[in-house]
Amino acid sequence: MQGSDHRAEIRLNGTAAAPGVARATAYLLRQGQTMVPCRQVGDPEGELARLDAALSATRLEIARLRDDVARKLNESEAAIFDAHLLVLEDVALIDEVTKEVRRSGFNIEFCFQGVAQRYIDIFAQMEDDFLRERAADIRDVTGRVLHHLLGMAPAALGPIVGRQVVLAVDLTPTETAGLHEGGVAAFVTEEGGRTSHSAIMARSLDIPAVVGVKGLMEAVVDGDVVLVDGEAGLVIVHPSAATLAAYLDKEQALRSRRDRMMGEIALPEATSDGAVFTLLANIGGPEEMEDALGYHARGVGLYRTENLYLRIDDWPSEQQQFEEYAEVVRLAQGRPVTFRTLDIGGDKRLGDLNDEANPFMGYRAVRMCLERPEIFRPQLRAIIRASTFGPVSVMFPMISGVEELRQAKAFFRQVEAELAGEGVRPVAPIRLGAMIEIPSAALAAPELARECDFFSVGTNDLVQYLLAVDRGNRRVASLYDPCHLAVVRTLAQIFGAARTARIPVAVCGELGGDPAWAPLLLGLGAHELSMTPAALPEVRFLLRHSTHAEMRELAERALSSPDAAATRALLAAFVATKLKFR
Ligand code: PEP
Ligand code: MG
Repeated sequence: MQGSDHRAEIRLNGTAAAPGVARATAYLLRQGQTMVPCRQVGDPEGELARLDAALSATRLEIARLRDDVARKLNESEAAIFDAHLLVLEDVALIDEVTKEVRRSGFNIEFCFQGVAQRYIDIFAQMEDDFLRERAADIRDVTGRVLHHLLGMAPAALGPIVGRQVVLAVDLTPTETAGLHEGGVAAFVTEEGGRTSHSAIMARSLDIPAVVGVKGLMEAVVDGDVVLVDGEAGLVIVHPSAATLAAYLDKEQALRSRRDRMMGEIALPEATSDGAVFTLLANIGGPEEMEDALGYHARGVGLYRTENLYLRIDDWPSEQQQFEEYAEVVRLAQGRPVTFRTLDIGGDKRLGDLNDEANPFMGYRAVRMCLERPEIFRPQLRAIIRASTFGPVSVMFPMISGVEELRQAKAFFRQVEAELAGEGVRPVAPIRLGAMIEIPSAALAAPELARECDFFSVGTNDLVQYLLAVDRGNRRVASLYDPCHLAVVRTLAQIFGAARTARIPVAVCGELGGDPAWAPLLLGLGAHELSMTPAALPEVRFLLRHSTHAEMRELAERALSSPDAAATRALLAAFVATKLKFR
């Protein structure tokens, strides 16, 4: 195998975010608001001539992109750019801008952006799906024109074409989903941690990813060959021939390990001494059900319902939600589906929820829903209507105490009664649960357990809040340590409270799908683990090849560990003996 070129290999370390290895050319995604200056100009006709030039340049740029996509993908993918070219020919838009420049005497960028935004807003509010989607086209094309007017590089706005490694300072979950649609090979970011939502999304989309790579954007330029090792958290720029050969071997070893685990996916979920456990899937929409069922999930343990809101970048209607939810419940074919009610906020931003100094501790999740029945009611109605197709549970995110749980439950029961009056009958009673992901909820777990049907532990947030470490901040990523004594002890207390109240307890945070953690969680008392579907084969294999007695012993030893390092060593040693062929 040939090396990518003769330049020296550069190795950059980050946090392993999603497994897999990919090698492709780099595409640097530069983000940021386009700042448009506003000033009075004396020469409106001169400004209009600049607009003409920018329109021509944009036409050329789009035509080039169109050809490129047609060559690398196909004609039908390229057709999107025909629609973009039509936006540039829109006489009404150009006329409006012309009038605005002559009337106001302001610079062309300012007038152009104002008119374009009006168009985007109008289309974004259209009832018709097709017309509403045009808003994105107009945003894309007018953004390009604006960049030409401002003399900025257009590359940042171009769509990612074909299999490239995308590098960015940071990515939102929505952008990550967009990258998947664009068919990227892998992604790497400077910011972020293992449990930031873009990393979680990468795992569920099965895109190799490394996050939190310091100095990334300076070390790489567009077109560099980059190798991404999503398991080791390593990015290799200009990999040498020797590195590429080593990676070929590694890929083969990974494939054979995977084959062995896949061979056991349909076997019973019981430890080798007969203790039964349940493995479930974390999903963000119906499109992830195929993987969930393919990897033999026993149901959905966490449906992140906010993904629909983020995908459409708007508040969806009850009917829109119902259609998605009903599809998931139908696809589950009688397996239980646990809906997590809307958890927007934090790093999952929408509309005016952006403007908070401390969004992870701000107006988020159930706090917002309880205050905005116009958002909460349609969602609950949609879930309850979907429960006529199969068994459904509902859990509330970010519960901080008993009062909040009572309030959420009361609202749910009110909506349920309303629907019963309309003749809606769930196939089975809907169970109501609390997510335990805030330290106050963990401490109030005995009382909470008496007032709900199940617990689901959100370890991503629980670790963040317990240790006061932002889960998406690279600078403190090394302090985000689930092996911290406080985390293990808190988990044991939550599971103990569930046991006393005789309610089931699941773990749906990323630790549930981590092979090093799964045996400890069962040993500490969890009954169910819910994870990204691709993690199911390995976790199932590991648990089936261990005894529950060993897991309980592991838990006891972890609970008396002197420090995090000792716990980490314990977990690593356990996995290593169980997965010897790794
Ligand atoms: C969690 O916090 O562990 C969790 C499952 O929810 P999210 O990652 O969506 O915050
Ligand atoms: Mg959470």
